[in-house]
Amino acid sequence: MRERRLSILGSTGSIGRQTLTVARSLGLPVVALGALDEVEEVFSQIEEFQPRLAVLFEERAAETLAEKVKGAGFGTEIASGEEGLLKLAQVSEADTLVAASSGSVGLEATYEAIRAGKDIALANKEVLVAAGRLFTDAVAEHGVEFLPIDSEHSAIWQCLGDHPPGEVTRLILTASGGPFLNRYDLESVTPQEALRHPNWSMGAKITVDSATLFNKGLELIEARWLFGVENVAVVIHPQSIVHSLVEFADGSQLAQLGRPNMLLPIQYALTHPSRVRGPAPRLELTEIGKLEFFPPDGKRFPALDLAREVLEAGGLAPAHLSASDEVAVEAFLNGRIRFTDIHRLVERVVGELGAPEYERLAEVRTALERARETAVELVKKGF
Ligand code: MG
Repeated sequence: MRERRLSILGSTGSIGRQTLTVARSLGLPVVALGALDEVEEVFSQIEEFQPRLAVLFEERAAETLAEKVKGAGFGTEIASGEEGLLKLAQVSEADTLVAASSGSVGLEATYEAIRAGKDIALANKEVLVAAGRLFTDAVAEHGVEFLPIDSEHSAIWQCLGDHPPGEVTRLILTASGGPFLNRYDLESVTPQEALRHPNWSMGAKITVDSATLFNKGLELIEARWLFGVENVAVVIHPQSIVHSLVEFADGSQLAQLGRPNMLLPIQYALTHPSRVRGPAPRLELTEIGKLEFFPPDGKRFPALDLAREVLEAGGLAPAHLSASDEVAVEAFLNGRIRFTDIHRLVERVVGELGAPEYERLAEVRTALERARETAVELVKKGF
């Protein structure tokens, strides 16, 4: 197994912590850590992994951390802000960036890591949704690889193996359907209810996205860019055991199965193509009993169709969808809009801003900001 040297963007989030569990179990060196402002947690991560660099985005928090690190006599360099994120992306001792932040925070850092020759273990799907063409071009140009962490994309990656693209006829993403698979009064859904996912334990943004199926919409777009396959279907599979499938020219479908747990996809991203014993729990199918599959209900969950339209429209439309969804989820969690308004708001913003073409990452950043502002305005004045 190749020993990857990791730099982790988002080390205190759900994926970041589990990446550290995998790194601990496999003995992988962690050379850089990045988080928002969690001084105590990052300090204990430094204590354990002794990275070369640790970044806290908030300057005050970074100052506090720097004092603690100095007091403890550790050699870890501490940095902050955008500048710190770029250092983390380019740190020469790392060969792999684990992009584990959520939303568009990691956009520039992930891009710079590609340009610095790092492979990208990708959990932060929003960066690929926002600027898919730019990122896939950069990966090709700099001879690096995307290592998918998203469980569905990890499954597809594992099923694809070495088959040439011409043999693949369809990708089939599975979706748990979220907590409201069988609920019809979606207007009255509370944030508490939306945060209670039946199978997966994840961050707040992605948990709400799973309840609206926006997460699956983002994953459709992510799959398009990661694998270059146009034909991507979605199947509801409430047990979350079959993580996704690939259909081949002869009609055969290959699936990857496992418990709904991120340790396995994180580990596979870091050990691919090798398979080694790690911390992921084992699956016993007899304990699961039955596996069910249904078509998605586009009436109650219109996010999937909207994502398809946006992908078709191209240009900056997916960036607008991603950024306005971030605002919509925040507004819903703060009790400012209803659950069903999330889709209404995103549809409004995407419709207003259209699908202009882009060339550079700075234009994507501007589009994300414009979509955020438009969405915030609409929430304020009602829509
Ligand atoms: Mg997923």
